[in-house]
Amino acid sequence: MSDTDPRLRDIFETTAQAVIAHADELTELDAAIGDGDHGHNMKRGMQAVLDELDTLAAKPWDEALKAAGMQLVMKVGGASGPLYGTLFMTLGKSLDTPPTREGVAAALKAAIEAVMARGKATPGQKTMLDVLVPASEALAAGRPPAEVAEVAREACAATKDMLATKGRASFLGERSIGHIDPGARSSQILIETIAGKFGDVK
Ligand code: ADP
Ligand code: MG
Repeated sequence: MSDTDPRLRDIFETTAQAVIAHADELTELDAAIGDGDHGHNMKRGMQAVLDELDTLAAKPWDEALKAAGMQLVMKVGGASGPLYGTLFMTLGKSLDTPPTREGVAAALKAAIEAVMARGKATPGQKTMLDVLVPASEALAAGRPPAEVAEVAREACAATKDMLATKGRASFLGERSIGHIDPGARSSQILIETIAGKFGDVK
């Protein structure tokens, strides 16, 4: 797509602000089973997206997503920076233009597969993938945005009882059980906010 979309600015801005608004919570979740930096990491990345908003909003969707992904790789850091960067960059690369619902679902699937390859992880290991994968499947199944958001909410809550076998939380072994995964929560916030822009999300 060579045209810019007036919704792009609003969606990027609202999404970045939502993550920033939850930075303290994300950091607390990471303090329980990681090193307590996930909120800071995500805030730094999303602030970079806000700082670049004028430039991003002037681009077509695919280019804007790739550029935002690069910002996340450079600014978020930690394990999650390259993974979220890969997610957004691959979304940009895979998105059909102009974007359709089916095209977005296919691009999200490709982007999550790239995240799995990059992090050598699969669902069931108590990571962001435990939210991203079910939400992506719900989208691919044609479920409306509000339902996709609900799937993500339930999937995030379900990470509480999971045993971490990937990432820093895996160092805790059994003690990782009983806490929501911080990356699952940040993914859920992203999905809920974006879904809210495309339909009535409770
Ligand atoms: P770090 O663990 O390096 O401090 P963050 O705190 O920013 O990085 O991010 C932690 C989150 O990253 C975890 O909660 C988890 O969801 C996610 N994560 C870590 N490793 C992986 C991986 N290999 N695949 C998918 N997600 C991962
Ligand atoms: Mg951390």
